Amino acid sequence: MRVWSQCNEPAGNPQLVLITRKAEFSASHFCASPDLSVEENETLFGKAARRSGHGHNYVLEVTVAGDVDPVHGMIMDLKVLKEIINEKVIDPYDHRFLNHEVEPFARVVPTPENIAKDIWGRLAEPVGECGCRLHGIRLYETPDLYVDYFGPRDQAVQ
Ligand SMILES: [Zn+2]
Repeated sequence: MRVWSQCNEPAGNPQLVLITRKAEFSASHFCASPDLSVEENETLFGKAARRSGHGHNYVLEVTVAGDVDPVHGMIMDLKVLKEIINEKVIDPYDHRFLNHEVEPFARVVPTPENIAKDIWGRLAEPVGECGCRLHGIRLYETPDLYVDYFGPRDQAVQ
């Protein structure tokens, strides 16, 4: 049986504490690579390649890592995290046709993988300015499909 002393981090090592905030947005897209032919895109993406597009209700989970402040007991002000997510992701993404209205999806295929990477790029710096570290992005495209992204390989901490 484990005892508390075995669960504690060694002295001087920061503990890994994560907190996750959820948000939702609706957007439409089509999936077709400019580097592939019409036929190749249809073979690869099926109906999703149709340029008229289709919609998803995306669910986003933003996980932040940091040290628990000894005074207020939080990693970061969650109101501020919500404001950052709203400003950097929800406002530019919600009710948009991603291929036509959101950078960089005029040239980058808006798969959930690429959307998660773009969202990481929008959030990493403002979260860092709050003294925390962006740990991961989880993006649900449908209830049974999600992508996890933990940042560029040289920055990812597993
Ligand atoms: Zn889709």
